[in-house]
Amino acid sequence: MIGISILGATGSIGLSTLDVIDMHPDRFTVVALTAHRDVEAMAAQCLRYRPQLAVMADPEAARHLADVLGARVPGTEVLGGSEAVAEAARLPAADYVMAAIVGGAGLMPALAAVRAGKRVLLANKEALVMTGHLFMDELSRCDAELLPIDSEHNAILQCLPQTRVSGVAPDGVRRLLLTASGGPLREWPLNNLNEVTPAQACAHPNWSMGRKISVDSATMMNKGLEVIEACWLFGLEASRIRVLVHPQSVVHSMVEYVDGSVLAHLGHPDMRTPIAHALGAPERIASGVAAFDPVAAPPLVFEEPENARFPCLALATQALAEGGSAPAVLNAANEEAVAAFLDGELKFTAIAAVIEHTLSYLDAGEAHSVEAVLELDRQARALARSEIRRRAS
Ligand code: NDP
Repeated sequence: MIGISILGATGSIGLSTLDVIDMHPDRFTVVALTAHRDVEAMAAQCLRYRPQLAVMADPEAARHLADVLGARVPGTEVLGGSEAVAEAARLPAADYVMAAIVGGAGLMPALAAVRAGKRVLLANKEALVMTGHLFMDELSRCDAELLPIDSEHNAILQCLPQTRVSGVAPDGVRRLLLTASGGPLREWPLNNLNEVTPAQACAHPNWSMGRKISVDSATMMNKGLEVIEACWLFGLEASRIRVLVHPQSVVHSMVEYVDGSVLAHLGHPDMRTPIAHALGAPERIASGVAAFDPVAAPPLVFEEPENARFPCLALATQALAEGGSAPAVLNAANEEAVAAFLDGELKFTAIAAVIEHTLSYLDAGEAHSVEAVLELDRQARALARSEIRRRAS
């Protein structure tokens, strides 16, 4: 049996992971589950999966969980706090770790899994965006295995030669073509974008996801973060990664080779496919996703992203070009701006403005340690929050 620890078990990716695991009871066993504050969902998961360890990042929520469970799950230890989340990542019984916490909060647990030499299924792209080469260096130092869960990166991985090494440019590849749906606002009148509500920004046409990544898809910051993620995962510079808007979300990405071949990965937009790929690799296992019928598929369209509509994409590329820890600053400012937008404190169009302001005011040199990145992350969040307050007043 393969032991799995799921960080962010109550979220969209966490639930899809449990769905795939449910299909293979003789292959996988859940050994640890973590969440932030959703005690009700976590209690239900504990009763069903009876993990060795259940962690709530919020200590108060952990006490509540322990009360709710009482003596009903005697084999499950309940812990609270962020250090306990990292403990779930390095649990000896966990062979694989699904890193599916949203945002920078997922960094230290994902790194803990890497440092424990696990197979890390990385959904939490923010961790890689924040720490870049530090994360990749730890990966090779600790002999851990990294499998991307983002559908685009997982698609690219599937189109690359099996001999590829994480973080090293594969031979014969000219470019990666990273597809993007364009989100729910692709056709909105540009002049009305400042009126977009959180519900409208989260109404993604093809994918059902958590609220933060849904807003990131609407601004296309998600694609910006993914370009940065792809550079680190596949060892390519940004100029060899082309973003294409593909509203049907059928082609999940493509790899263009020097001989003119272009390999594409197609399928339904359902995260259970990349999750099953990463759980089963090198074997193929069932995911529960319906068979894909090309005849029933809509015509496939590819477009250049519209710069005026998606300024966040350019900001991400700019941060990547700036190098050093600029991507960590970008990520921190984005998280704060998106949270303020979801709380009704910031206009949709001001998300990009807050990020631009933070990037221009903070000098993000090379960070030589994860602690230095975390310090910069704190500074960037404080700066972004003060700009959000200034705009609100
Ligand atoms: P959700 O918001 O649906 O779930 C987030 C999970 O993280 C929940 O379990 C939540 O717990 C937990 N969490 C939130 N804050 C903290 C914290 N401070 N400390 C510890 N745990 C926390 O997010 P998604 O599942 O949509 O996304 C997760 C990650 O996967 C993101 O990085 C996203 O970019 C990436 N991803 C998601 C895709 C998708 O289809 N959803 C596709 C590709 C990548 P609680 O429920 O208690 O709040």
